[in-house]
Amino acid sequence: MEGLRLALEAEMNDIAAHKSIAPTTSNNDDFLPEFSSICIEKLGEDVFRKWLSPLKIFSQSENEVIFSAPSKFIRDWVMREFDLKKLLHEIRPQIKKISVIYVPIAEIEQQVLSTESEQKIVNLSKYDNVFAFGCELNQRYNFQNFVSAKYNKLAVSMAKIAAGIDAQINLFDDKIPLFIHGGVGMGKTHLAQAIAWQIREYNKSKRTVYLSAEKFMYHFVQSIRNNDVMSFKEKMRSIDVLIMDDVQFIAGKASTQQEFMNCFNTLVEENKQVVLVCDRCPSDLTNIDEKLKSRISGGMVINFKNADYADRLMILKSKAEITGEKIPEEVLSFVAEKINTSIRDLEGALKKLLAGKIFDQCEITIENAKEVLADYVRKSNSCAPNIDKIQKIVADFYGIKISDLISKSRERSITRPRQIAMYLTKNFTSESLPKIGQNFGGRNHATVIHAVKLISQMINKDHKILQEVKSLEEKIKS
Ligand code: ADP
Ligand code: MG
Repeated sequence: MEGLRLALEAEMNDIAAHKSIAPTTSNNDDFLPEFSSICIEKLGEDVFRKWLSPLKIFSQSENEVIFSAPSKFIRDWVMREFDLKKLLHEIRPQIKKISVIYVPIAEIEQQVLSTESEQKIVNLSKYDNVFAFGCELNQRYNFQNFVSAKYNKLAVSMAKIAAGIDAQINLFDDKIPLFIHGGVGMGKTHLAQAIAWQIREYNKSKRTVYLSAEKFMYHFVQSIRNNDVMSFKEKMRSIDVLIMDDVQFIAGKASTQQEFMNCFNTLVEENKQVVLVCDRCPSDLTNIDEKLKSRISGGMVINFKNADYADRLMILKSKAEITGEKIPEEVLSFVAEKINTSIRDLEGALKKLLAGKIFDQCEITIENAKEVLADYVRKSNSCAPNIDKIQKIVADFYGIKISDLISKSRERSITRPRQIAMYLTKNFTSESLPKIGQNFGGRNHATVIHAVKLISQMINKDHKILQEVKSLEEKIKS
């Protein structure tokens, strides 16, 4: 017990040092500078300095922020006197829940958090058999609202099996741990929560826990601090379905990883369902124990590929239908074509169009859409993989020059990377075949078709090529 306590020191120090315990993921941005400016603007510098400047971000998820205050007095004052939600709304409207807890800076290890603040964080058992450890389940994130398209088909099928919608395929006698990974805003959290909702509705006897890796660590650390590790372990091992989001968070946190691995092993041995969600594939997880990596890779690893134009259009249509607003087909096509960063951005663009219609009373036309969505399109253009970016990544990967890729060289060490680069360009961009050919040294479209076919076949036969293409895809997406 004492050893564990010591081992955890580094992780707890993160909290004690009053830093955000979250790594820099999309969900964990540092909005404090922006937030401070708003507070100064609205409340004046004196008030801000006295009451709000001592607050730090304690933890943060997509729609929830927990601030820490260095004294109970400040915590109570802030909670009573200020509407933090309203202040934050201007810069982070997606944040629906804000709490302030007291975290003493110096004697953190001896301190037990007051029951009052503890209750604010742990909202166990809000959803009957589904425990959302401090992470609210989003009402909207269910299977009904989730569009299954080419790019996520396998992930959806496997999620349905995990949720018990489709009986476990006979091929597998045991429950298979599921590891779902993919880019930001592609629907991973939505799908993970859909599993939890489904079980809550249709399989009430199953005890399910949905939580982010950050919350797992938080509760684990709290249990150590409260001398209550055994009950944490018991709780985690008594569940039937564990769904953990943002697994990348535990990278570099050795004790949390160890505890997680124990929990994972026990659940898998007892044939319980485990679903892990991550922003990268297992092999790209750095600072994660190799044993844990190999355990999680032993399950079913599924990648959310990038949605292509047809997928994006399908999602837009379905979302537009839900709103009940009539949006011209050409506008939907425009949005699907221009916004290729993430589903979250597609959704944002649609909301912006609808907001324009409601607040400015302007009809949704293609001209309006171009104007209203200019920012989204710009962002999309700058982030989206283009031919130049792909050529650079491929050339760096194989240690050759970009000029080699577009040269006439027929050496194997050059032609294979060139074919792979063409294949990736076809998959990641909406460039036409002739345009791709042109950018690879003025080759014709038949050469591109040949390259795409060849690499597609090789991926199925040649493990080395498959691994190389996978690594390149991850690099292009990041
Ligand atoms: P991630 O966890 O991968 O970053 P989220 O699950 O938070 O992404 O999804 C971002 C937004 O896009 C959410 O509002 C979600 O409902 C929506 N979304 C993503 N994929 C789909 C889909 N296939 N169908 C419907 N909505 C989706
Ligand atoms: Mg997510």
